[in-house]
Amino acid sequence: MPKSQIPLGSSVAIIGAGIIGIATACALNRKGYQVSVFDPSKPGEAGSSKANAGHIGASDIFPLSTPGIQWKALKMLMDSDAPLKVPLKDFWKQIPWFWKFLHTSKGKRFIASTNALSYLCHSSINDTKELLEYYNMSAMLEQNGCAFVYDTEQSFNKSLKSWTDRASRGFISEVLNADKISQIVPTINDNFKFAYLSHEWGKVSEPIDIVQGLANAVKVDGVIFHPNRVSSVSEKLNSVVIDFDKGSSKYDAVIIAAGIHSISFAESLGDKLPMTAERGYNITIPSSNIDIDIPIVFADRGIVATNLTSGLRIGGWAEYSNANRPANQHYFKSIARISRELFPGLNTDNANFWMGSRPSMPDSVPVISKSLKMNRIFYNCGHGHYGLTHAATSAKLLCKLLEDNDLDKAKAFSIDRFS
Ligand SMILES: Cc1cc2nc3c(=O)[nH]c(=O)nc-3n(C[C@H](O)[C@H](O)[C@H](O)COP(=O)(O)OP(=O)(O)OC[C@H]3O[C@@H](n4cnc5c(N)ncnc54)[C@H](O)[C@@H]3O)c2cc1C
Repeated sequence: MPKSQIPLGSSVAIIGAGIIGIATACALNRKGYQVSVFDPSKPGEAGSSKANAGHIGASDIFPLSTPGIQWKALKMLMDSDAPLKVPLKDFWKQIPWFWKFLHTSKGKRFIASTNALSYLCHSSINDTKELLEYYNMSAMLEQNGCAFVYDTEQSFNKSLKSWTDRASRGFISEVLNADKISQIVPTINDNFKFAYLSHEWGKVSEPIDIVQGLANAVKVDGVIFHPNRVSSVSEKLNSVVIDFDKGSSKYDAVIIAAGIHSISFAESLGDKLPMTAERGYNITIPSSNIDIDIPIVFADRGIVATNLTSGLRIGGWAEYSNANRPANQHYFKSIARISRELFPGLNTDNANFWMGSRPSMPDSVPVISKSLKMNRIFYNCGHGHYGLTHAATSAKLLCKLLEDNDLDKAKAFSIDRFS
């Protein structure tokens, strides 16, 4: 039997009530820990969990940094409609992060990241399904696949290797010809003639409803919610002290799941957490005149479209910028214009605009790890583009890590890969 590090029944505090903090609270509560969650905002309201695209992207096994990414990135930076944005004022500060990002695109590093993401992807749909079933929320998940649509035959052909690599790892897809595309997504611009249907893909009815539904359910099961901002954490003897705006409390262990704000906690503890804000933009059109049955990824444009309870949500992009800067309003206009090209006849007049900061690691792999400096402090953060997708699986893994400090399966997600 592995040595138990944080015994069942111990008190555990989670910092952050986004999808990662809440899924972690569910897993720990079910296991038998006494769980408290700190967040000054209502669950899911403050961070990127609020209005993301709602995809359970379980076949996206590749890190963003793929071989040759530097040339693709340069080309994208010169095109104002391309999905990559790096404001000059923020570029210089991010050079160390970009350097690590480029490093991932090669050899062993690329394979290690793909293996780690495949590990999460293999379980993500089943774990999400199981989590939602347990809390009577299974009607909020649909699993009908996702259409990956390409602008040109050339880019479709270029993508072939990625689809065969996915297939070799058990992720199934099929080619959709022009007829099939217009059958599956009749409202799409008929210039799109090349696509794949990825089977291991789902979507939720509304991302914020998932976070709030789970939070309400675990509250009934005994998880305590503190509407407070945590200012610091420190380890004292056999406990961790949390200081927050109205006082301080002691716990047997603490989990940092504060999305992009996890960086400052890591800094104060002496852990290296190279995470950056990768800001995404979307528009949501309530009662849209366009309907789509399955989620769509416009692969050459870094844009996805999903039908949600709140309306048709279209967006994506990646702006590497300071999380605290106001959103660039110009990008919303561009996304609305592009959306009308993708779906002719789409009315975007009443669209709601949203920008969120993805907490992104250079290798696209989250950190599910014990601190290197403190024995009772853990991280569950850095989920980048796929926090909703991997929340349930990450939470299960973190739970096992609390019980067994030296868990082999968790090594690929350790914070020590950046030391
Ligand atoms: C445009 C866009 C589209 C996306 N689409 C998808 C998708 O389709 N599928 C998918 O899987 N993922 C998607 N993502 C990514 C996903 O949204 C994130 O990976 C995920 O939301 C990260 O969750 P989190 O809980 O780590 O962080 P957050 O949701 O940001 O939550 C962090 C929480 O920590 C709290 N906090 C911060 N500091 C403190 C403090 N000092 N004390 C207490 N609490 C604190 C905050 O208030 C916040 O509530 C998308 C992201 C964007 C931006």
